[in-house]
Amino acid sequence: MKKLKVMSVFGTRPEAIKMAPLALELQKYPEIESLICVTAQHREMLDSVMDCFGLKADYDLNIMGKNQTLTDVTTKALKGLEECFKVAQPDLVLVHGDTSTTFSAALAAFYAKIPVGHVEAGLRTYDRYSPFPEEMNRCLVGRLATLHFAPTAKNAANLTAEAVTGDIFITGNTVIDAMKYTIGDGSFNSEELKAIDFSKRVVAMTCHRRENYGEPMQNIFSAVREIAENHSDVEFVYPIHMSPIVREAAHGILDGLDNVKLIEPLDAMDMHRLMSKSFMVMTDSGGLQEEAPSLGKPVLVLRRETERPEAVEAGTVKLCGVKKEDIVRDAEELLTNPAAYDKMAHAVNPYGDGSACRRIAEAILYNAGLREEKPDEFRV
Ligand code: UDP
Repeated sequence: MKKLKVMSVFGTRPEAIKMAPLALELQKYPEIESLICVTAQHREMLDSVMDCFGLKADYDLNIMGKNQTLTDVTTKALKGLEECFKVAQPDLVLVHGDTSTTFSAALAAFYAKIPVGHVEAGLRTYDRYSPFPEEMNRCLVGRLATLHFAPTAKNAANLTAEAVTGDIFITGNTVIDAMKYTIGDGSFNSEELKAIDFSKRVVAMTCHRRENYGEPMQNIFSAVREIAENHSDVEFVYPIHMSPIVREAAHGILDGLDNVKLIEPLDAMDMHRLMSKSFMVMTDSGGLQEEAPSLGKPVLVLRRETERPEAVEAGTVKLCGVKKEDIVRDAEELLTNPAAYDKMAHAVNPYGDGSACRRIAEAILYNAGLREEKPDEFRV
């Protein structure tokens, strides 16, 4: 029997974390030949995820360069993927989420008339410039794909309202599957994390989004400085993204405080384990908004909007915006009011139950006529 050649394409850290468990799942099915192509839009951070999950890329486009514009990334990936698809001849291309790699891969597959499956489909803010360029990337991929793997019922409803072509499956988010691999025994690889005193309350934070560059990021870091100065008994742990813009801003405002640890990016295991041992999370990341609720950790989102309303509705995530006084007020509330903290600190899993990858694999087989039944839907 000829196997169905399924090629997963990804290039950044968050895509890799969420596609890795799917690549591992696809390897289990005798009807599928699972291939991986990485664009390496982020080089080191991607390689760290591949190592964590014991994966090796079949094709590596290695497109990362210094000071690249979005156009550089998109055109390099598009050209590289055209060649890759010519050589590999996949039957289906899987892309994830909303990066420039995601958009380029979906477009390159469309040009080659190869069907596209979109993992983590249907997230929307309905603001074309926020997050930028992610909102437009995911909308455009929604038009190009014919298999849509929506994590939640809300995401699926967004796609139905847009009348996308093809089939929509509600699968849960693969990040919850990833956490089954990463949480493990909770021990750290990073020496910097081993040195943190977790008998104190620890705030895990990340901040790197492009739309926060400039004033919003300065506000966020100034707020963190003020909170850290007010609470010498609380430790902030901030693994800083590789982006030079973020590094400069973070060091400029946060250097010199004993209780703010600016550390190197963590591997996925350490990041998830750090969150599981923390008191709360402050972040502008999308992925952390999905991961922390499943660990019962309150999250303050350092953005004006979110495409992940489910945990806000469940009461474990609060959208606090990017104004200094709002961030200070919301963090103070959690640090000083145990009742407010307890109200937010309960584990919820609105994003998945750890079976998203199995559902996606079954949906692919169903779509190819290799399974009679549709997979079950993820329900909260
Ligand atoms: N992450 C990580 N190491 C870090 C910071 C984040 O492994 O030092 C993980 C995090 O747990 C999540 C993903 O990277 O799974 C989020 O990536 P990022 O914040 O870059 O992007 P976003 O989620 O906003 O797309």
